[in-house]
Amino acid sequence: MKHKILVTGGAGYIGSHTCIALHQAGYEVVVFDNLSNSSAEAVNRVSQLIDAPIEFIKGDIRDRKALQKVFSEHEFFGVIHFAGLKAVGESVAKPLLYYDNNVSGTITLLDVMSEFSMKRFVFSSSATVYGDPETLPIPENAPRSATNPYGQSKLTVECVLEDLAVADNDWSLVTLRYFNPVGAHSSGIIGEDPNDIPNNLMPFISQVAVGKLEKLSIFGKDYATIDGTGVRDFIHVTDLALGHVAALDYLKEQSGSKEGHSVGFLPINLGTGKGTSVLELVDTFAKVTEQDIPYQFAKRRAGDIASCYASADKAKTLLGWEAKLSIIDMCTDTWRWQSRNPNGYNAS
Ligand code: NAD
Ligand code: UDP
Repeated sequence: MKHKILVTGGAGYIGSHTCIALHQAGYEVVVFDNLSNSSAEAVNRVSQLIDAPIEFIKGDIRDRKALQKVFSEHEFFGVIHFAGLKAVGESVAKPLLYYDNNVSGTITLLDVMSEFSMKRFVFSSSATVYGDPETLPIPENAPRSATNPYGQSKLTVECVLEDLAVADNDWSLVTLRYFNPVGAHSSGIIGEDPNDIPNNLMPFISQVAVGKLEKLSIFGKDYATIDGTGVRDFIHVTDLALGHVAALDYLKEQSGSKEGHSVGFLPINLGTGKGTSVLELVDTFAKVTEQDIPYQFAKRRAGDIASCYASADKAKTLLGWEAKLSIIDMCTDTWRWQSRNPNGYNAS
């Protein structure tokens, strides 16, 4: 029998790629998403790619009744919880929305899971919880802090999960801290589709390349880095998706072991362990796509840090997972998606 996974936020960027990886690994997925930052077309395309139907439920994680209905109609092995809002600037302008959606929504979901004795949870956390790191590469036990409501919402959920693990040792709460997810499925059929002008670097570059935006602004050229621009740990979304499969496989193994079935609160970095500068990414993108990427230097963006990259050891040791795809793959696949779908999931 296939293990069934509830994927909240499964119509979104990382969720849609993870649905493919889960299907390929033999899991069955049920997607639950309110489409506040995504399109049902993404789910259709996933279905097309895997050549199988996907159960899609349009609903909000803050809607307890809707969740109760889903849990009463399905028997899940686990939940992967992607649903959340992620725009840092918007979170500063609308903190209540972010705390309600990301924190209250997650608590409602955990509460309903508890009601149905379903206690395997994989949470989308972020490297943002490390604030401005003291140590590089960043290990999972590094100090945590937040500088904006989005980051604080992730950190708060992490604290909720830690407390929950202490209160009830039946829970497995795998907390995956993503570094900088980029790229797209190699088919060019699904990818990242930001609603407005992108805040993040890679979608901004690809929209400049396709002619939707005129010029990239590189925020800061005087950081203490290899070339003065920010350094990040860019990770291909397909590798990231496989990290979720590895986490579930690990929970499957644990649930079959003698010593006990739950892993408690388990934070794991999902990154490559390598830093790449903004300029290096721009240059690689321009080279592999043979597109011109005009850019100018601008002042540092408030809240940005110089460098951030993961210690990827724990994921390798514990989950047997490591990122395989290169910066070239990330640029090539982003461009395939962007050039074939200049308007994202909107046909026109
Ligand atoms: P995304 O916006 O593409 O996907 C999130 C999905 O959740 C969207 O489909 C949205 O419609 C849905 N959603 C939001 N609020 C909901 C609610 N209340 N009820 C039901 N569905 C809801 O974002 P993504 O890039 O795929 O990110 C997925 C998760 O990973 C998020 O929690 C995000 O904070 C986290 N994360 C993302 C990044 C990144 O750079 N993309 C980095 C670190 C962590
Ligand atoms: N960046 C940039 N121009 C942009 C967007 C981002 O120079 O239009 C830089 C940003 O300052 C940081 C890096 O690119 O050094 C990654 O930023 P992004 O927003 O993609 O991710 P973050 O690391 O902030 O989560």
